[in-house]
Amino acid sequence: MELIEKVAEMQRRVKTWREAGETVALVPTMGAFHDGHLSLMEQAKAHADRVVVSLFINPAQFGPQEDFDKYPRDFDRDRGLAEEMSIDVLFCPEIRDMYPLGFQTSVSVPILAKKLEGASRPGHFRGVCTVVLKLFNLCQPHVALFGWKDAQQFIILCHMVRDLNLQIRMVGIPTVREKDGLAMSSRNRRLTPEQREQAVCLSRALRRVHYLVKDQGIVHTGELLQAMRSIIRSADQAELDYAAIVSRSTLDPLDIVEKGNTLVALAVRFGEVRLIDNTRL
Ligand code: AMP
Repeated sequence: MELIEKVAEMQRRVKTWREAGETVALVPTMGAFHDGHLSLMEQAKAHADRVVVSLFINPAQFGPQEDFDKYPRDFDRDRGLAEEMSIDVLFCPEIRDMYPLGFQTSVSVPILAKKLEGASRPGHFRGVCTVVLKLFNLCQPHVALFGWKDAQQFIILCHMVRDLNLQIRMVGIPTVREKDGLAMSSRNRRLTPEQREQAVCLSRALRRVHYLVKDQGIVHTGELLQAMRSIIRSADQAELDYAAIVSRSTLDPLDIVEKGNTLVALAVRFGEVRLIDNTRL
């Protein structure tokens, strides 16, 4: 595995591959690797000849009150794990190389970006879209892999790819979970032991919705949302940010579950730590 830190060097490397007729897969990350990230890397190998994993904690997607400074950083461990995955390049650009003085361009998908996460995190998806488009331009991937864990992010990025005619195949990877069901996330390590125990309420609420829809035939979202909220309420350290059942194409709320087009999404705060999870119906 090669470690590339300079933007220009990344561009040169990918040019050589492309000239040799090789295909490229990109897995964008912010590091602090867990099995979710490793699953994306593993699957990327099946999609292309070369795999680039980017590791860039993008300041532009954190709000002023958010956890940019507290975001977990463990470069040596990440580098070791990436090495074990036998990827081709770990691309770790520096902030000033990505955002040189005078940088001012941004990309947004404004309607989808206002929904769900966007309501609590204004500007977040503009930061995500801008950095991902930059990474696409730098790495020139044929295929890019993202986790369904961040469903709204994946949906928005697919929309950006479609709107801007990018010739990149977008692949969504299922959420990797801890044994008790908690979706793996770099933020989980900031939970206290008690919060960690209670954090299972997110996946429990989502499993309950699955059961109510698949086994009980309930399709009215009001009833499903009520069931979710009561499970979250039962965890006394959990503060519900939102529970939503929306269309996967518009992210607008649904009254009735639409099979194959429904996203059930949750955001819950435990103290300073905000967790998200979702399921598809
Ligand atoms: P992050 O480093 O949190 O920005 O995540 C990098 C990529 O990994 C994104 O596409 C995430 O959706 C994906 N990801 C994060 N957590 C998980 C998980 N538990 N399972 C699968 N993919 C994940």
